[in-house]
Amino acid sequence: MNINEYETLIGAETLERIWQKAKPLTGRQVVHISSTYYGGGVAAMLGPLSLLMNDVGLHTEWRTIQGNPDFFAFTKAVHNALQGAEIQLTDHVKWIYEQTNRDNAVRNQLNHDFVIVHDPQPLSLIQSYSRPVPWIWRCHIDLTAPNPLLWEYLGGFIDRYNAVIVTIPEYTQKIRPPQFYFMPAIDPFSLTNVDLGAEHIDHILESARIPTDKPLVVQVSRFDRWKDPQGVIDAFKIARRDVECTLVLLGAPAADDPEGQSIYESLLSQQDERLLIINREDSLLVNALQRRATVVLQKSLREGFGLTVAEALWKGTPVIGGNVGGIRYQIRDGVNGFLVSSVAEAAGRIIQVVRDQALRERLGAAAHETVRRKFLLSRSLEQYLDLLNSFEIVVQVRENREIERAMLVPDAPVESAVPTDAALAPVAG
Ligand code: UDP
Repeated sequence: MNINEYETLIGAETLERIWQKAKPLTGRQVVHISSTYYGGGVAAMLGPLSLLMNDVGLHTEWRTIQGNPDFFAFTKAVHNALQGAEIQLTDHVKWIYEQTNRDNAVRNQLNHDFVIVHDPQPLSLIQSYSRPVPWIWRCHIDLTAPNPLLWEYLGGFIDRYNAVIVTIPEYTQKIRPPQFYFMPAIDPFSLTNVDLGAEHIDHILESARIPTDKPLVVQVSRFDRWKDPQGVIDAFKIARRDVECTLVLLGAPAADDPEGQSIYESLLSQQDERLLIINREDSLLVNALQRRATVVLQKSLREGFGLTVAEALWKGTPVIGGNVGGIRYQIRDGVNGFLVSSVAEAAGRIIQVVRDQALRERLGAAAHETVRRKFLLSRSLEQYLDLLNSFEIVVQVRENREIERAMLVPDAPVESAVPTDAALAPVAG
């Protein structure tokens, strides 16, 4: 993975700016810590992001924490509660959570200049380290309405961090560390996103036994209640009364999501020859489906960002997305896709898009351009470089000068590297 490969997509000037920003950080040791190498958007992004950070000269590692099923059952409940669900916060589950992270701290010697912790699973790790380097918490979850009791508990850990990154301004919280806004981004060269010829797509879909004789309506998502797979099925069942089409719901197991299997199984009885539900890790199949789909759905009820939206838009496929969270920053209603708030609305948009080829072409062209300008990983890399550069203090740590943790505050909020564009502000209401 090489940042120079992005030149044809982002231009020589942007590329040169990234190299200039990387220069002062040459040789700095960075570690990303998350909960899984496979499954979900965080893992999809951290692989290529850590490669790019190495390519521009930072010594970057990506580590994951280990935990038993009780730990991951609790952290999935935390994920759900951060998105607004209820949670049982007993002393017992808190102990499992904190003890698991203490065990992981014993396993992980961290002598890095920057520590970037992703999502709540490894959040409490910070309790076990005293070396005064910047710790950054990157929360990828939809924080529109976090459960207040849970937030109070997590706040004890969050307040020890030196900076917090959330996805969009709507997720801003009352916390001590300064907050920054980074939207996720895709790797256009990954198996999920790389260009595929028509024959290759045919072959992949045929191998997966997916019929392509009728328009494909696709949702690619972990089997998760917030992705509303039942809502997608209901919308499809309404739409198929008016237009002939095939629905494919594709999800893959994620190591840190213990609920996926049971949600997948709960949907299976609704399968028929035109309604396919597949539970399998297969990036090329994701790619082929997003490319061949007549329309992609991401009918989420909560969505931190929704990388699957950016992935489908990149392929010039119109997306019908839930009018929530990060999806509202990717889809501009009627321009590069549609935003919907109900099953009936989703069904109506499916029918409209399936029937109208000219509309699909117009939406698709705008969709690709949206991602080229805003949602490529080069932009995310640049934002991390901006943030890390703003911690002057690292130099002092390296020179072994005594400093206080409290001083580890980035010097000023970092300007977003994303061009401002009113067209992609979230829609009102
Ligand atoms: N994904 C995949 N196979 C699947 C379902 C999802 O490879 O069957 C990938 C998808 O392509 C995307 C990521 O997992 O890169 C999901 O990220 P997103 O932000 O949409 O959702 P999350 O799972 O993180 O909530």
